[in-house]
Amino acid sequence: NARQMPAGIAFYQQGQDESHQRELTLIHDLPLALQNGQFYVVYQPKVDIQQQHCHSAEALIRWQHPQLGFIAPDQFIALAEHAGCIGLITDWMLRQVISQAAVWWQQGLHLQIAVNLSVFDLLNPSLTDTIQQLLQQQQLPAAALALEVTESAIMHDADTVIQQLSQLRALGISLAIDDFGTGQSSLAYLKQLPVHEVKIDRAFVKDIEHNANDALIVRATTQLAHSLGFSLTAEGLEHQAGLALLQQCGCDKVQGYYFAKPLQAAQFAQWLNQFNA
Ligand code: C2E
Ligand code: CA
Ligand code: CA
Ligand code: CA
Repeated sequence: NARQMPAGIAFYQQGQDESHQRELTLIHDLPLALQNGQFYVVYQPKVDIQQQHCHSAEALIRWQHPQLGFIAPDQFIALAEHAGCIGLITDWMLRQVISQAAVWWQQGLHLQIAVNLSVFDLLNPSLTDTIQQLLQQQQLPAAALALEVTESAIMHDADTVIQQLSQLRALGISLAIDDFGTGQSSLAYLKQLPVHEVKIDRAFVKDIEHNANDALIVRATTQLAHSLGFSLTAEGLEHQAGLALLQQCGCDKVQGYYFAKPLQAAQFAQWLNQFNA
């Protein structure tokens, strides 16, 4: 009986209903929105801080909904995973990114662009074939594509995931462990993973100039990554003050607002042109 409940509780339930309704709307709209041009891709530079040069980026998805406005990926990626339609998003991203990377490649811009995968993508046995076909169609060398997989996705079903990653690696695609340090992986697993790159999570990077423990963690993780033959990328650098520390820690690449926010293709190419000049 809502009338006898304290106002706060009724309000809370109403708020829950509204967010549930919004989620249902998003899931309902998603498949058609992918076809109708409501989604677009942005590219965030991954800067080689030892060479002061940039030749790679991460592709991130964006949704501009006609009624609800801008919707951040944090609001629909997990939802799409639960609803079983994350594969639609991944397919769309792979198509967009591989054709854009092929255009850049033909222009002499030899970049490596990373796409994020969900654990459900890695459990899909046709993923490797799909990617191989797209690369062939667009005549893009496999080395121009990277795939990012979170540490927790790998731990979800390590044997199956490692097998799929090995197939992708055999094609010549570059692989990265994403959000490293936030999952529950044992370090022992790390050396079994057929990856090239470890991306240490923003949580350890964002305050590195103020937090000696974070600096220790980044340094130790970089040393571990290097001793296992992986390169190390630091995510989420916002302030110049952290850059020298990341260089001292031996990090290979840095991604973060300090260098650039995620940009649409044309702006990204412009940024790159200036940065690498
Ligand atoms: P992620 O893979 O860890 O991507 C990095 C996120 O950090 C991006 O957020 C990026 O905009 C943000 N970021 C980068 N530098 C900075 C910084 O200096 N400061 C701050 N505060 N943030 C920074 P975004 O684009 O909102 O994406 C959030 C998450 O959504 C991603 O985290 C990824 O897990 C997921 N996601 C985005 N696009 C895709 C996609 O195409 N497929 C899948 N499966 N997941 C995606
Ligand atoms: Ca990522
Ligand atoms: Ca990440
Ligand atoms: Ca993240």
